[in-house]
Amino acid sequence: MKSSLRPSLLAARLLGVALALSALAAAAPAEGVAAPAAPTVSERDVMPHLDALQRIADRNGGNRAHGTRGYTESVAYVRQALDRAGFRTDLQRFEHDGKAGWNLIADWPGGDPNHVLLTGAHLDSVEQGPGINDNGSGSATVLTTALQVAKARLKPARHLRFAWWGAEEPGLFGSADYVDRLPAEGRGAIDLYLNFDQTGSRNTQQWLVVQDGPQADEATGQAFASWFAARGHATFDIGVGGSDNESFGNAGIPSSGFSTGISDCIHEACDNLANVDPATETTSTNALIGVLWQLAATTRP
Ligand SMILES: [Zn+2]
Repeated sequence: MKSSLRPSLLAARLLGVALALSALAAAAPAEGVAAPAAPTVSERDVMPHLDALQRIADRNGGNRAHGTRGYTESVAYVRQALDRAGFRTDLQRFEHDGKAGWNLIADWPGGDPNHVLLTGAHLDSVEQGPGINDNGSGSATVLTTALQVAKARLKPARHLRFAWWGAEEPGLFGSADYVDRLPAEGRGAIDLYLNFDQTGSRNTQQWLVVQDGPQADEATGQAFASWFAARGHATFDIGVGGSDNESFGNAGIPSSGFSTGISDCIHEACDNLANVDPATETTSTNALIGVLWQLAATTRP
């Protein structure tokens, strides 16, 4: 500490240290064990998943839309990676527009089943394009995070569940079906839902965090904002809406998450691999990993 600090400033600094220490103590997990440090991933961990989704679209008429083979192959790709990593996976069927839709649910064994942290992204594209930013990017962010949980053999205080929703593009049908089927006690057991829709937008260089508004979990929104601020990235607040967190908000389940915003090629054929910025996508994934590690370490709100 510099000796040139005036006494009042020194007192302020010391108070700041004391506050920081008490904040650290408050963030410690309930068990009194220090939370393990979150891992950091690189482009090599994230981008291969987007490459795989692009190839699936390429061999299936250029899209991965609800009711198509491109969608079921996308589900199979994500599920296989999760099964190999030790997740318990389940496919939940629903119907929309006369076609079968699928939600992929993956549970990481362990954690308190009465305190579920659910993290999800929609896996379907529109029919007009391959949907690599919207929403291969969010799907890959969530998949990479789940695989890091497995790699770390994380022993979370909360139960960790991951989901890839079908038929978001025609109107949030997959996530709405999942929420509708939850028994009352199942709804109550979900502490929080985190949603990721477009996390690698090339043109925006911004992070829009679900932080404020009805059913937004402000503390988690603040945790995301702090993660980005610590790395020099500005964030903007968006309310819940326009993606699958709406389905959870309607059922009174708090949510957060973020998006990198609307890309130039949204819902067009040019929403391909070149429409995703690898650095943005990787930063988004590390943000989810960092905050999920914090949330997983405690069952307290
Ligand atoms: Zn989307």
